[in-house]
Amino acid sequence: MTPNTPTHPIAMVDLEAQYQKIKPQLDQAIQQVIDSTQFINGPQVGQFARNLAQYLGAGKVIPCANGTDALQIALMALGLKPGDEVITVPFTFVATAEVIALLGLKPVFVDVHPDTFVIDENKIEEAITSRSRCIIPVHLFGQGANMEAIMRIAQKHNLYVVEDNAQAIGADYRFADGRTQKFGTIGHIGCTSFFPSKNLGAYGDAGALFTNDEALGEEISLIVNHGMKVRYYYDSIGVNSRLDTLQAVILDVKLPHLDEYNAARQAAAARYDRAFSGLRGVTVPKVAPYSNHVYHQYTLTLEEGRDRLKDHLQGAGIPTGVYYPVPLHVQKAYRGYGYKEGDFPVSESLAHKVLSLPMHSELGGEVQDYIIEQTIKGLSL
Ligand SMILES: *Cc1c(COP(=O)(O)O)cnc(C)c1O
Repeated sequence: MTPNTPTHPIAMVDLEAQYQKIKPQLDQAIQQVIDSTQFINGPQVGQFARNLAQYLGAGKVIPCANGTDALQIALMALGLKPGDEVITVPFTFVATAEVIALLGLKPVFVDVHPDTFVIDENKIEEAITSRSRCIIPVHLFGQGANMEAIMRIAQKHNLYVVEDNAQAIGADYRFADGRTQKFGTIGHIGCTSFFPSKNLGAYGDAGALFTNDEALGEEISLIVNHGMKVRYYYDSIGVNSRLDTLQAVILDVKLPHLDEYNAARQAAAARYDRAFSGLRGVTVPKVAPYSNHVYHQYTLTLEEGRDRLKDHLQGAGIPTGVYYPVPLHVQKAYRGYGYKEGDFPVSESLAHKVLSLPMHSELGGEVQDYIIEQTIKGLSL
């Protein structure tokens, strides 16, 4: 151990320190829900939805039970039929492809950009067939996809766009004319997750859908609650995917802090960038020219020695993550779709090169200095 080894264990995400700063408001909000016993569909759920819609500039926000459900409900609301094709990336969390498969749709993968890790818009058109219905860009690690280009392609080919915004809530897309809009509100439907470690995290599972299309908003509202319009009358086939009132109040207390949480992540990322830029064999995460970045993850790309660095950091008490170690097209569960090793070289290469360092809203100070020092040391091994 070096002399300046922090005394507390270092976490990928420090939820404890964040909680301490807003503990009185959170504890009170939670207690109020328990006192009211309105655990399901309490009025605070609608209140949070309206506050989030206002923050995002979205026509409507429909909360649901988790981000995976949000994606599934989006595809259900679009009325896609078995055999329809949905274009997405193999370099993402499994949920994106899982819901496509679960609904009997076909995932059609498109490779990602090597520097921003998001869908390569230049490769989308070659994946489009007569069965294509929808594109799901994933705004990965806090960096969004090129939405203007994607919307143009979607419009030309009459496709829906569902944004997987689980990792980039609060990030802004900048249009060519200078106008900005929140990621997740540009496609037909946006989906997000409030999994505790996400940039806006609940204290359990939670998620939401956003849309500016009134009819889609209506349909989504039905689907999340069993397709029920009037109690015990079912207009659509739905699911049980409501947001708990307890999670809604927790999120509503945290929402006004989201910009400050994202700014803290950006400050920590800038510090990492200053320390690592220019070091040989390592690339810091790129910010696309059309957006800002909210650093759900801070992900380095190592030309070689990724696992050596990971082991070194682990030995120094620093946790890291490999998101994602195996692209979806070569996962056992997804082999039935006919893909093979070599089909998506960028995703396959990134799987061996990426390493995510601790990143959260409370990072900084001596802890981050120590992570930086040990990372530089590990890189020179
Ligand atoms: C977290 C995540 C999801 C799923 O969200 P859950 O709330 O865990 O179901 C979907 N897509 C991406 C890219 C994610 O990071």
